[in-house]
Amino acid sequence: MSDFKIIIGLEIHAQLNTKSKMFCCCDNDSQGKKPNTVVCPICLGMPGTLPMPNKEAILKTLKLGKALSCEIPNYSKFDRKHYYYPDLPKGYQISQYDMPLCIGGNVSLELNGVMKSVKLNRIHLEEDAGKLIHLSKNTIVDLNRAGTPLVEIVTEPVISSPAEAKEFMRSLQKILRQLNVSNADMEKGHLRCDANISVIRSDQSSKIIEIKNLNSFKFVYRALEFEINRLTSDFEGNIGPGKQTRGFDSKRSQTYPQRLKEEASDYRYFPEPDIPTIDTTLLKIEEVDSELPSTFVLRVHEEYNLSKEVAKKLTHNLELMSCFIVLEGKLNHDSLKRSANWLANEKILRINPDLLVTLNRSIEKSEINSSQAKSILRSAVDEEDIVQQIKKFRSNDGRDIDGVRKIIDKVVESNKKEKEKYLAGKKQILGFFIGQVLGELKGNGNPEEISQMLKSKLDGK
Ligand code: ZN
Ligand code: MN
Repeated sequence: MSDFKIIIGLEIHAQLNTKSKMFCCCDNDSQGKKPNTVVCPICLGMPGTLPMPNKEAILKTLKLGKALSCEIPNYSKFDRKHYYYPDLPKGYQISQYDMPLCIGGNVSLELNGVMKSVKLNRIHLEEDAGKLIHLSKNTIVDLNRAGTPLVEIVTEPVISSPAEAKEFMRSLQKILRQLNVSNADMEKGHLRCDANISVIRSDQSSKIIEIKNLNSFKFVYRALEFEINRLTSDFEGNIGPGKQTRGFDSKRSQTYPQRLKEEASDYRYFPEPDIPTIDTTLLKIEEVDSELPSTFVLRVHEEYNLSKEVAKKLTHNLELMSCFIVLEGKLNHDSLKRSANWLANEKILRINPDLLVTLNRSIEKSEINSSQAKSILRSAVDEEDIVQQIKKFRSNDGRDIDGVRKIIDKVVESNKKEKEKYLAGKKQILGFFIGQVLGELKGNGNPEEISQMLKSKLDGK
């Protein structure tokens, strides 16, 4: 199996937790309500009704897009995606085709201590369909869910293992909840995942398999694992272009074939004539959820003992806040606190959680000190750059260990009184010496190492 390259892309649907549905005034929360009672002519798809786009849903989508560093085009539109199904009485779903609200972006995740940033293709907004309930003799339909706003988050095909796919889902769930755009409860169907997978050996690729409707982290993992085994054990039988759609039987932990996959042309996409183009420059994202920043400030103040000023600064900029949210759980308490202070107070060239994690790991290993980290932060453009700069600091330290020793000798010689105090038992004066040496080194030294060298010098060892 090791000579196969695995290529996974995910499409995630997340229900937005807005007050009303996507195109009508119906309550968006039908939890526990009788079937077909939270409906109106618009979401029932009656002919002649007109959809009214939900501003809160559009703002929440843009908020998510900003937090995931997507590009927000100035204009966006809705399109009709045609297909027939009993849970879709209109015969088409209002979705977005070629002008989505958000383009690109990324979600970072950590797997076995390694950070990875998963590139997104797009995020668009659409309406959900109703639900079919299969009874023993017949099937009935509940349209309470019809018209619920959904964001569809599409990744590039850059995920390389089932474990990575699972971590991606976890990471995304956390961000959706922290930003308060979705409750993202997989058991309740707020967050659903379709996974595309193919395997490649030498120049040959298997068909692309789309596994539909995976509704738990465990199922995402198990379905992909099953599919990798199936595709690699009969690679010859699965070579070729084309797509196949499969479902997942969680009881047997197996996938099974479903209908043939439609091509985009089968949906006959065309612009929704009843909704004008959206000018995103006229929308103020800050309008939505004014209560979120204050709960965020209180939470990080209490959990991490950060000053309220620092916490407030983070909430003023969505990019800073989402970076902090991604860092939670990846960094230990001290490093997280340090990062929050950096984010709030330093001029950082590129705000990216991966870069901050790399820097903090390096401080934790005493490879660099925090003032060196800060100077890297101000100039680093990418991970490679950071690694190079860390190397440079380290080689400066290592190369000139004799130079450091000379400076220590000089500092100790020119501060005789302090040396006497130290020898008389006032050990805290060591900090004064370390400061003097670091000053001479212009912040380049490793405090830990200098402290050791100073001790042996002062103690005459
Ligand atoms: Zn309605
Ligand atoms: Mn969709």
